[in-house]
Amino acid sequence: RIVLGIESSCDETGAGIVSEGRLLAHAVASSMDEHARFGGVVPEIAARAHLHALNPVVREALDQAGLRLADIDAVAVTTGPGLSGALQVGLAGAKTLAYALGVPLYGVHHLAGHVAADTLEHGPLPDPCVVLIVSGGHTSLLLVRDLVRDPILHLGDTVDDAAGECFDKVARVFGLPYPGGPAIDRAARGGDPAAVAFPRPLTGPRDDPYAFSFSGLKTAAARWAERHGDTPLPVADGAASLQEAVADVLTRKALAACAAYGVSTLVVVGGVAANSRVRALAEERCAAAGITLRVPRMGLCTDNGAMIAAVGDLLVRSGAEPAPLEVSIDPSAPLEYAALRPVAAGS
Ligand code: ATP
Ligand code: MG
Ligand code: FE
Repeated sequence: RIVLGIESSCDETGAGIVSEGRLLAHAVASSMDEHARFGGVVPEIAARAHLHALNPVVREALDQAGLRLADIDAVAVTTGPGLSGALQVGLAGAKTLAYALGVPLYGVHHLAGHVAADTLEHGPLPDPCVVLIVSGGHTSLLLVRDLVRDPILHLGDTVDDAAGECFDKVARVFGLPYPGGPAIDRAARGGDPAAVAFPRPLTGPRDDPYAFSFSGLKTAAARWAERHGDTPLPVADGAASLQEAVADVLTRKALAACAAYGVSTLVVVGGVAANSRVRALAEERCAAAGITLRVPRMGLCTDNGAMIAAVGDLLVRSGAEPAPLEVSIDPSAPLEYAALRPVAAGS
């Protein structure tokens, strides 16, 4: 069966098509440029951009796959978490399609989508695996068994800023362009990662081993920049040192989770998984610990519809019950189940 996935939780409008675990189409439109001058995503602008982009993006996905709307057997859509106005546009579009085509609708948790993105590149996830989600809005460590049948165990989250948010905010302080993550990554080339001793938050023996905190790091970077006063800021050194601190904390905690739960596969997803130092350190530490590392390619790490279609495809194949057409969004949906409604036991 052929599943269309729609994503509109933030500033990317995505449509993807997946069938039996195979990626058939992956189309994304971003309103990032429209938010750049505000230094962050403006919810109203994002919602309106989805309204413009949704139909063309679905069309593009169908064209890529060489399919017609009538070929779609199920529609999956992000119901949360995310910006409510943005989510509503995607859900309204998905409901309309499901109703008009007479096919089932599945409400998907955005973070489960990020996890499933990796299956499109590396095949089914081993059970269990540890997943580190690092993006602009989330920094979470998960223990995943069967993604669509079993509850997802949330090991830890950031207690304040997400890692991507930290990169974005520090980039601004360093005078780098938006979005800050890629800019910090580029600026760090040639910098000395040991130049500035930035803190490693929540890594003490009494700290929650799976909780993250990045707002202190942001403040430390701002203070370091301030100390330079009118003298030119050694941005390369600052960026390399910040990246080192973030990569160190992320990989240390992810590997600690693998060890504690006896898990041999680590999956890293989300926009910050694109960071060159995060990737390199994860590879280095996983190799040393005998852990298999899975990181999807960049286009599947950031928000997209293919990852939502991937969850929809798993739900369809597991015989999960579809969502009723009156289903609503849940902007702060907790991640316990991949689908909006848990799969009934034994189904
Ligand atoms: P969420 O998925 O949590 O709702 P989001 O859609 O903003 O949030 P993504 O699109 O997955 O998240 O990722 C965007 C984030 O990734 C931004 O904070 C951006 O700065 C960061 N990022 C992208 N590339 C890099 C990089 N090379 N190094 C560090 N950070 C990066
Ligand atoms: Mg985004
Ligand atoms: Fe996301």
